Amino acid sequence: MRNNFVSRFPDGTSRNWRDWRWQLRHRVTSLSALAGILERPVGDGAELRRLMSLYPMAITPYYLSLIKPDDDQDPLALQCVPDTREVECSADLADDPLGEDRSMPVPNLVQRYPDRVLAIVTHRCATYCRHCNRKRFWKTSQASSWKSRLTAMVRYVSETPKIREVILSGGDPLMLDDASLEWILSAFASIPHVEVLRIGSRVPAVLPMRITGNLCRILKRYRPLWFNTQFNHPAEITPDAARACNRIQEAGIPVSNQSVLLQGVNDSPDAMQDLLNGLQKMSVRPYYLFHCEPARGCNHFRTDVRTGLKLMEKLHQRCSGLALPQYVADLPGREGKVPLWPLSQPIKNALRKHQDFFDNFE
Ligand code: SF4
Repeated sequence: MRNNFVSRFPDGTSRNWRDWRWQLRHRVTSLSALAGILERPVGDGAELRRLMSLYPMAITPYYLSLIKPDDDQDPLALQCVPDTREVECSADLADDPLGEDRSMPVPNLVQRYPDRVLAIVTHRCATYCRHCNRKRFWKTSQASSWKSRLTAMVRYVSETPKIREVILSGGDPLMLDDASLEWILSAFASIPHVEVLRIGSRVPAVLPMRITGNLCRILKRYRPLWFNTQFNHPAEITPDAARACNRIQEAGIPVSNQSVLLQGVNDSPDAMQDLLNGLQKMSVRPYYLFHCEPARGCNHFRTDVRTGLKLMEKLHQRCSGLALPQYVADLPGREGKVPLWPLSQPIKNALRKHQDFFDNFE
């Protein structure tokens, strides 16, 4: 944390700083508060205010403390500070590029494969990522209580024996308190044909203090449980983040990372190499690098696939295999995740030498 950064917040003490609930209570949600805390002007004006009424802003003090205030292209600021390009560049794109809303057998339960479901347990997030492909949910308040929503999901899963894996997602499932989370984990884990649970959460990157000893004791009770997180830039890999990942791992839960390829944030070989090596140092497996989806409000983050393939080619040369994620495009409906392979000239040449093993690779 930068010197005295904590004192810019009401009740800002180092003890409060480590309290995830304090962090949530002090999230920065207005442009004037953001300018005050960063101690520099930030954009304003009618257009930005209209944008924020569509896609609100919320940034934890912790994540803000990682931003370099004198860099208006700071890769972390780009991920959390509203940008008018969110409305300018993508008006013709879909709110729901993966067609998730059409794949819900019961509300908030997405089923795109016969054996897996994704439970949207909350719409809340600690920090709203401007590149989120579910930003359509940010303003939707959920009419029913989480327990009645979850009860319908649990009933559907228990009546569908093909489902062997349940993924808790959102929003961010770790926005729920420990007791609610345990209720959900226990309800799904008690279904005999559910073999594996998974949690998708960005809190290790944006609110690492949420990973408390008590939370880890709860998670440990529901193994086999897999934890997928999302670090997108090496500046997100901090001692606090490493401690959070380590706590989850010490509970016997493997941690993997799913980054999104974001123009201006991590689309350079240097940034991505540092990110992957940093993840490997935290024993977090780089699992997927997602091609940024064509979601409304995210178009300015999208690179073309060729850029992604060139990047992967460079990473193949620079990183150890253990640090290489699979570059994938998530396609709507049941087609799902499609691997995008960097069939560069050197790779093609190498494969040609072994044509007997690799027929028709082109
Ligand atoms: S934490 Fe996940 S769901 Fe929430 S805004 Fe970020 S990408 Fe979207």
